Amino acid sequence: MIKNSILLLLLGGISVASAQTKFKPEDTEFYTPVPKVVTTEVNKAPSDALILFDGKNLQQWVSEKDSVSKADWTVENNILTVKPGSGAILTKEKFEDFQMHIEWKSPEVIKGEGQGRGNSGIFLQGLYELQVLDNNNNKTYTNGQAGSLYKQTPPLVEARKNAGEWHTYDILYSAPRFNKDGHLIKRALVTVLHNGVVVQYNTELQGTTEYIGLPRMVAHGAGPIALQDHGDLVSYRNIWIRKL
Ligand code: MG
Repeated sequence: MIKNSILLLLLGGISVASAQTKFKPEDTEFYTPVPKVVTTEVNKAPSDALILFDGKNLQQWVSEKDSVSKADWTVENNILTVKPGSGAILTKEKFEDFQMHIEWKSPEVIKGEGQGRGNSGIFLQGLYELQVLDNNNNKTYTNGQAGSLYKQTPPLVEARKNAGEWHTYDILYSAPRFNKDGHLIKRALVTVLHNGVVVQYNTELQGTTEYIGLPRMVAHGAGPIALQDHGDLVSYRNIWIRKL
């Protein structure tokens, strides 16, 4: 019995090998479609990125209050800072699958603790929060620290920097898909590099990132990027996105 199995394996190997010899190298090479050329430079957005914030203005953003009024956060010295009490800001444009880059820093003046220290967040499609928080010497629930998908998945590691230093997030996001009856057919997947270190790797989102209660699965199409006003003076810069 064992001998027969080995014989079959050998014969299988031979037939695959002989099939391979029927090919010429060029049989498995193609020249179209041609990938579009994207030019890149260190610390600059790729040439095909949509610049969401370049340090000058908030033209790409609106207030969450009515999704129409101008975003009312502070723009100064090429930096965007939360204006506490003004609410979140949303991109005018909506997205499904994307690559996004954003830089953030917690306030230089350290105040508050736990979720009350340097809290903001990046809401993917306006629904799923990638947490922004000052983690330094600041105990909180791990699925609520910086780099977590809020109340769902803690980061794989804590990519630490001192309070007041700039952090980077590079996000790869694949949106959930729903059928025409609103049933989930594919979960959202999130990969995040925090300061160049992978902290979320193809993490499946369980649904909305709720402060209280369980994630909710809500059928939706394309959605905006939202930045959270949690009452802290968190700053952002160099925000760009590429639709995939
Ligand atoms: Mg937050």
